[in-house]
Amino acid sequence: MDKVIGIDLGTTNSCVAVVENGQAVVIANRGGYKTTPSMVAMTEAGKRLVGHLAKRQAITNAENTVYSAKRLIGRKWSSPQCKQVSQSASYNIVEGPHGDVRIVLRDKVYSVPEVSAMVLSEMKLIAEEYLGHEVKKAVVTVPAYFNDNQRQATKDAGAIAGLDVIRIINEPTAAALAYGYGRNVDKLVAVYDLGGGTFDVSVLEIGSSGVFKVVSTAGDTFLGGEDFDARVIDWLVNGFQEEQGIDLRKDRMALQRLKDAAEKAKVELSSVEEVEINLPFIISSGRNEALHLQRVLSRADLEQITADLVDRTVDIMRQTLDDAGISREEVEDVVLVGGMTRMPRVQSSVQEFFGREPSKGVHPDEVVAVGAAIQGGALVEDSQQKVVLLDVTPQTLGMMVAGGLMEPLIPKDTTVPTLRTKAFTTSRDNQTAVKILVMQGEHEEANKNELLGEFILTGLRKANAGAVEIEVTFEINADGIVSVHAKDLETGKQQSITVTATSGLTKDEIQAMIDAGKQYAVERKRDEEYEGRKQEAEGLIFEIERLHEKVAKVVGGSDYGRDALEKAKGVIDRARHAIDRRDSPALKEQVEALTRTLKMFKGVVAKA
Ligand code: AMP
Repeated sequence: MDKVIGIDLGTTNSCVAVVENGQAVVIANRGGYKTTPSMVAMTEAGKRLVGHLAKRQAITNAENTVYSAKRLIGRKWSSPQCKQVSQSASYNIVEGPHGDVRIVLRDKVYSVPEVSAMVLSEMKLIAEEYLGHEVKKAVVTVPAYFNDNQRQATKDAGAIAGLDVIRIINEPTAAALAYGYGRNVDKLVAVYDLGGGTFDVSVLEIGSSGVFKVVSTAGDTFLGGEDFDARVIDWLVNGFQEEQGIDLRKDRMALQRLKDAAEKAKVELSSVEEVEINLPFIISSGRNEALHLQRVLSRADLEQITADLVDRTVDIMRQTLDDAGISREEVEDVVLVGGMTRMPRVQSSVQEFFGREPSKGVHPDEVVAVGAAIQGGALVEDSQQKVVLLDVTPQTLGMMVAGGLMEPLIPKDTTVPTLRTKAFTTSRDNQTAVKILVMQGEHEEANKNELLGEFILTGLRKANAGAVEIEVTFEINADGIVSVHAKDLETGKQQSITVTATSGLTKDEIQAMIDAGKQYAVERKRDEEYEGRKQEAEGLIFEIERLHEKVAKVVGGSDYGRDALEKAKGVIDRARHAIDRRDSPALKEQVEALTRTLKMFKGVVAKA
């Protein structure tokens, strides 16, 4: 049976898990870490680095290292979030052909799903190395508050990575699943999920029969640990500006170092009261002298400069409970998810709000991937307990009507999958097309909501105004992804729809990216094969050279011996040449020749 892996594709870190013998296992990467930085870099030599390798070189290669791609996925170039990233990121972003966002790495332009696909490929590979076979299917998680464009783009990223994403599930729902699975509880729980880039809160009813029903969800897809880091960076930059009169933001490398130091300080302040931030040689004064940055940040300072961010999460939490008509007292347990929930002030705010201590049972960094793996297992019936997930759509789906207003079609917090039909009639004689602007959001003014696409019904029957009635079905599937179809009510004929104004990739673009991804996988395999052979060859050369003197002493006096020594030298030269040329097939032959030579050398030494 095909294994389904669960991937938590995080803003800062990603995590992969799989169900084995009824138990979800979080899989460690080669370095032994259970989470992998969601970072991608391109080296000067054109080599792609993902995860820890990318993170390690981020300071020296800031311009070509992408982090937090999730903040951009499925967003339009014109969005305020995109503007913010373009001003603060150390890498460059440009406008794509669909009004989408593209990322520049070493003069090559990548779509955001492509970059996320690089992270997903890495997670796929980590799972494959652990399982020992290829993995084709995955459940990938997204923030509950992600809209249709963001979900679709995440799904595209999966396809580009060569994964069949059999389900997209919401992160807090996945966390609740991991929390409640196999525990036989009947409870109303709230999940507070503050990660690197996004915030979600969901309230769920967990039933002992394995039913997980989301009652209400809300969030902010641009609120997370990164914003806390940004506050610390501002604090450092402003302090430096006051002291030295120099703006550190102008220097990419300085900015990347500040980012690192800010995050580190924030994390440390979860366990200590005070940290010293020390960045020697941060910038030149312009008078041929290097300047250092040194400041002490206390936990109280951090709490003060980020208080409004924590307050925003509390406001959202209050709102979602109000929307669902649930009082705080009714919530029986609170689950904290996401690395940011380790911050004491975040914990105490949640505790204060609910008047109870949050549950300690789950691992905030791993629980989402575990939930995704459990859902994956359940979808292919590779689990011991039945799981029924009933999630909701986080934002109202609607369409633009006269006066630029939004007419809601499917209200937020409706259980998915769901559909809603609506009849349209032509308003002019011989009208052959109808345009429907579909959007998501809570605003009354349509253009303040997210435009999902313009759906144009074409080729309508020519008739008098009002004579053609078309039934349009708006559907949201279990992934939270929207589709629209239409039919002529009189003829029953399916009406074709052209979708424009979406920021998503076209089918052809995705296919080209899938092909490029496959090509990369082949190259990577070849690279790894070469590296393996190189290591083996170098080890053998080392051993041969170590024995050379002894062998020369024993056989160097005879013609036969001198000939053998000469041949050995030839083998080593050829092996080194193959290493220099990165010629893997030739190196394979030389490894065999080196092995024979070493065997012969060892034989000579043993006999002597
Ligand atoms: P996640 O996306 O869940 O991996 O969350 C990552 C975010 O959590 C990043 O912004 C981290 O800096 C932050 N984080 C991780 N550990 C801690 C900690 N001990 N204290 C405060 N923030 C943390």
